[in-house]
Amino acid sequence: MGRLLLVAFEPHEAAACAGFAHALGLPFDVLALSGEPDADLGAGKTMIANLSEIPPADGIAKAIAEVARDYSHIAAISSMQSKDVLARVAGLLDAAMVTDATAVQSPTIFQRPMVAGSIIATVETLCEPVVLTIRPAGFLTAQRRGVSPSEPVQVTVDSKAKRLGATNRGGARPDLTQARIVVSGGRPLRDAATFEKVIGGLADALSGAVGATRAAVDSGIAPNELQVGQTGKIVAPELYIAAGISGSTQHMAGIKDSKIIVAINKDPDAPIFEAADFGLVMDLFDAVPELERKVRG
Ligand SMILES: Cc1cc2nc3c(=O)[nH]c(=O)nc-3n(C[C@H](O)[C@H](O)[C@H](O)COP(=O)(O)OP(=O)(O)OC[C@H]3O[C@@H](n4cnc5c(N)ncnc54)[C@H](O)[C@@H]3O)c2cc1C
Repeated sequence: MGRLLLVAFEPHEAAACAGFAHALGLPFDVLALSGEPDADLGAGKTMIANLSEIPPADGIAKAIAEVARDYSHIAAISSMQSKDVLARVAGLLDAAMVTDATAVQSPTIFQRPMVAGSIIATVETLCEPVVLTIRPAGFLTAQRRGVSPSEPVQVTVDSKAKRLGATNRGGARPDLTQARIVVSGGRPLRDAATFEKVIGGLADALSGAVGATRAAVDSGIAPNELQVGQTGKIVAPELYIAAGISGSTQHMAGIKDSKIIVAINKDPDAPIFEAADFGLVMDLFDAVPELERKVRG
């Protein structure tokens, strides 16, 4: 029987991936690269690497590949970082790779979205090991199971690049891909200051993250790292508020795993209303500040 290695770049990712592990039906261990994940996920063991920061992709991929040699499956939550790193792990292990898995039919057959989510492909892997990135929203949250032992693991990082420093441009807001609430704005926000005041204001009132459409990013209204969608970030919050967003297929590809979508758009025929759970046909410059006032009480 095979065995799964769940790679958690951040400690909370282990719990988010545990539903996938149970769906796969294989025993699993956790490799926690930073911090200590919950111990009651039903893993065989949790290996704690305790890195203060995740090293460049080439270095950490070699370290993960070393730990992963005896596993039939290696998986992590889908993110730019995990795809960068795990693609290298797959190369090093000569493994099959499936990205953005949303469902498991068997240990070799998975479903994943294609063409901005308008097609769901069924993919069969033809060799072992199998390396996967997964979208956890597709899998039930795992029930808490018995506590498993944890042990330190020494990872030796040998990288061809060195990070000299990093500045956090996101300020105190939660990470877009992990946030429970996301407030996003589109092209009508006009300029960066208006975007920050209107969209940032509501996001802060809700302790949420800020997102944007590609049109907003391309117009210089929002920074590139806030782009949500097919060529941006994939989000899966409990609440996604879209203000002044038309609902293009490319944008919807990044938000369709959101539990509740609220759309604010002054055009009642805007496509986003077809996907929204709640729709407000209103000028966003009236609706969003009003919502913020109500939230702040
Ligand atoms: C290959 C490719 C990849 C792409 N990837 C992405 C991607 O990852 N993410 C992404 O978002 N897009 C992506 N796009 C672009 C996408 O096709 C759309 O152009 C973009 O999503 C539109 O952004 P928008 O909704 O902000 O702007 P618009 O389409 O201009 O829509 C603005 C909306 O705001 C409404 N509105 C206007 N004024 C107000 C107001 N005052 N109050 C309320 N509502 C108002 C309008 O009715 C309209 O519905 C991609 C395109 C291509 C070709």
